[in-house]
Amino acid sequence: MTPSVAIVGGGLGGLTLARVLHTRGIPSAVYELEASPAARDQGGTLDLHEESGQRALAEAGLMPQFRAVVREEGEALRILDRHGTVRFEETAVASGGTRPEVDRGDLKRILAGSLPSGVVRWGAKVTAVSPGRLTLATGDVVEADLVVGADGAWSKVRTRLSGAVPHYSGLSFAEIHLSDVDDRHPAAAALVGAGSMFALAEGKGLIAQRTGGGRIRVYAAVRTADPAAVAGLADRDRLLEVFADFAPALRALIADSGGAVIPRPIHALPTGHRWPRVPGVTLLGDAAHVMSPFAGEGANLAMLDATELALALADHDDVESALSAYETAMFPRAEAAARASAEGLEACFAPGAPAAMVEQMTRFAAHHH
Ligand SMILES: Cc1cc2nc3c(=O)[nH]c(=O)nc-3n(C[C@H](O)[C@H](O)[C@H](O)COP(=O)(O)OP(=O)(O)OC[C@H]3O[C@@H](n4cnc5c(N)ncnc54)[C@H](O)[C@@H]3O)c2cc1C
Repeated sequence: MTPSVAIVGGGLGGLTLARVLHTRGIPSAVYELEASPAARDQGGTLDLHEESGQRALAEAGLMPQFRAVVREEGEALRILDRHGTVRFEETAVASGGTRPEVDRGDLKRILAGSLPSGVVRWGAKVTAVSPGRLTLATGDVVEADLVVGADGAWSKVRTRLSGAVPHYSGLSFAEIHLSDVDDRHPAAAALVGAGSMFALAEGKGLIAQRTGGGRIRVYAAVRTADPAAVAGLADRDRLLEVFADFAPALRALIADSGGAVIPRPIHALPTGHRWPRVPGVTLLGDAAHVMSPFAGEGANLAMLDATELALALADHDDVESALSAYETAMFPRAEAAARASAEGLEACFAPGAPAAMVEQMTRFAAHHH
């Protein structure tokens, strides 16, 4: 019998799950509180790894659509110190071309567009979850054999499985943007290059990414133990003070940015988070293992979790054995990535930065070429 599957959350994980299930003939419904896939600025570029994000797209039958929107040159990486001296540089060609960049918005559009209409219930907020049923903000109740929590870091579904709550990592981002950079900010465009740029010092740094449409996104990262101080970072003048010891060319990324400064405190679930099997409910992606972005794995893992869960449901006769198989492989994978992201965060902002990251990337490059 084909199980009925209710997916809470239509982010990259939830949409990938619905799509891979669809390709295997298993229907599902996705309940997403946002009104549409373009409801807000979808943020940032992602590099999709061969063994995870790209594998998910292959299983989803969406590689041609993906290839049409990737930017190969987005793989380029530059690491600078606070004086603006380039300490490591790699072009997309040198990095091997295996990790092309894609804008998150494009990816969500491709996934959402690949589903039959009506599968995603946009504007449907889930307010309560119990095994076998969901309650929506409208008061409607949905019954399902399987409820999947793909509802992100602050997952409501997770509360049915585990008491764990994400903790503040001690690092906060203030997100800013520069637009029309080739014409209006050529110096910034040259500084950042075609891909990503990390300008690092102990306890802080500027992490910039070239995104589609002539834009640059900058995360001004600051280690601050007090999450309440994060709100104070949402101010250009304050940021310029925090980065007063950075070279003028680097501070120009802040000074020349336009629009709102968005504070983003970084949270993570405990490394190794897991739960005892509860019939008919599971989690994937950030709901299961939100981590700091320093392993570059979050979106990749969400898509891989979704793919493996879909394939397990297609391969097993009963839901419980599918969930066991999925969780048995997912828990250790997530634990390893969470450890790598916590170590990556430490390495980025360690005393002597950017030395640790330069050393790590130099070793990685030597190993891969
Ligand atoms: C600043 C930053 C930079 C990052 N950079 C990278 C990167 O370079 N590479 C990478 O791989 N990852 C990166 N990540 C991580 C990546 O964004 C996440 O891991 C990924 O989006 C997780 O996908 P998801 O589908 O599990 O959750 P989400 O994308 O969070 O989706 C969850 C969805 O559930 C919906 N939802 C929540 N609650 C409800 C409810 N009650 N009812 C209905 N719907 C609900 C939400 O609206 C949302 O659409 C970054 C994260 C941050 C914060």
